[in-house]
Amino acid sequence: MDYKKALSQPIFEIIGETADELNLDTYVIGGFVRDYLLNRKTPKDIDVVAVGSGIALATELASKLPKKPQVSVFKNFGTAMVKYGELELEFVGARKESYHRDSRKPVVEDGTLEEDQKRRDFTINALAISLNKTDYGTLIDPFNGLEDLENKLIRTPLDPDITYSDDPLRMMRAIRFATQLDFRIEATSLEAITRNKERIKIISKERIVEELNKIMLCPIPSKGFSLLHTTGLLEIIMPELTALQGIEEIEGQRHKDNFWHTLEVVDNISMETDDLWLRWAALLHDIGKAPTKRFHKKIGWTFHGHEFLGSKMVYKLFKRLRMPLNDKMKFVQKLVMMSSRPIILAEEHVTDSAVRRLVFDAGEHVEDLMTLCEADITTKNPKKQRKYRNNFKLVREKIKEVEERDRIRNFQPPVSGEEIMTTFDLKPSKEIGIIKEAIKEAILEGEIPNEYEAAKAFMIKKGKSIGLNLAD
Ligand code: ATP
Ligand code: MG
Repeated sequence: MDYKKALSQPIFEIIGETADELNLDTYVIGGFVRDYLLNRKTPKDIDVVAVGSGIALATELASKLPKKPQVSVFKNFGTAMVKYGELELEFVGARKESYHRDSRKPVVEDGTLEEDQKRRDFTINALAISLNKTDYGTLIDPFNGLEDLENKLIRTPLDPDITYSDDPLRMMRAIRFATQLDFRIEATSLEAITRNKERIKIISKERIVEELNKIMLCPIPSKGFSLLHTTGLLEIIMPELTALQGIEEIEGQRHKDNFWHTLEVVDNISMETDDLWLRWAALLHDIGKAPTKRFHKKIGWTFHGHEFLGSKMVYKLFKRLRMPLNDKMKFVQKLVMMSSRPIILAEEHVTDSAVRRLVFDAGEHVEDLMTLCEADITTKNPKKQRKYRNNFKLVREKIKEVEERDRIRNFQPPVSGEEIMTTFDLKPSKEIGIIKEAIKEAILEGEIPNEYEAAKAFMIKKGKSIGLNLAD
């Protein structure tokens, strides 16, 4: 069968002509071919392999293209990249690789197409389509990648123990592709990952997180996390999470398995949002529960202060994984810290003042917080579920109401410190703080509206009550 249809973009014909002129057997390979065959959106990065010099091919091609785009050459890797409109064309010479145990940097030699396909991670990523005139559009598939695509199977071209041990990042990639494509990892492969899990330690944290983030952005991230868990990789990468696994029972009292609960929450939130960091917040919202777990005879299991400890753990985890310690991390911390607030609120009667406090503390993240808390409802008890959902709906309505009236979200004190000083003829002093705090409290409690006139009157009353006199 021929796959000329895959090559509908005009660039392929130009690459093929150039390759013929240079007498290079040339193929499009990897993700582009795979995604075409799966009917996925065609990727913007296209990998081309030439039997010979990929750099020479890239250079000659670029000189022929309109506007003569720049060629970025990576001599050490024998690769070259050409940007062409939206496309990133990646050129490489076919190569054979051999590895040392302590590094994922191979020793590279020139090789045949088949040797190049063999060094690729999975059979579905080793499919190549020829670009030369004589066999334009021919699929070259020595490892039955096509069949694996049809069977939705992740399989390595070589013995999986070799493939994974050579470059342990492939273990993460296997799980990532299984999650992204909803494929199964071949049993022998899965066993090899489990056997080689410790090798993940030679991979940089950045590469690991890159794959974690891709898993996190899948429609059903739990698939990836449960594979990471069963292979033992997760325990190495994020022991805080696996520590949540298990149910303990003392005197007939059990707590839920917070690991599987967490994965459910991540799946739930992924139906509502594509925001990577909100999904991370869901993944980490309960991590403080393992170290704070206690059993009390009278009340059973408690996790006192887990939100506070959890938010501290977020920082440590981000730091260890070399994730950004920026406002995204602070956002995750804040959501973890506040993750129990709405549920406490929803368990009781939802009052205006409690809602105002929630909005005040959550600020611009109040909607995200509500989304997290709704995702956190995993009870299988339909009555409880209905109750929580209804209460959260009520909380959301109240948030809107209170926002329209009191604009608490980006709270600015309606009366400034300077005005307090001139009103009472004060120098900078603690009284100013006391009065400001009292005004804020009065607004949050609903005693006065969040308005200048009311706040000013309240300020005068409060000042007098703590023994201050009005300025002349
Ligand atoms: P995506 O772009 O969606 O991540 P992809 O398959 O295109 O998927 P890339 O990282 O762009 O992945 O790599 C392009 C190709 O290079 C892959 O299809 C695969 O053939 C090969 N490849 C990438 N990383 C590895 C690796 N660690 N080991 C072996 N082959 C790899
Ligand atoms: Mg790619």
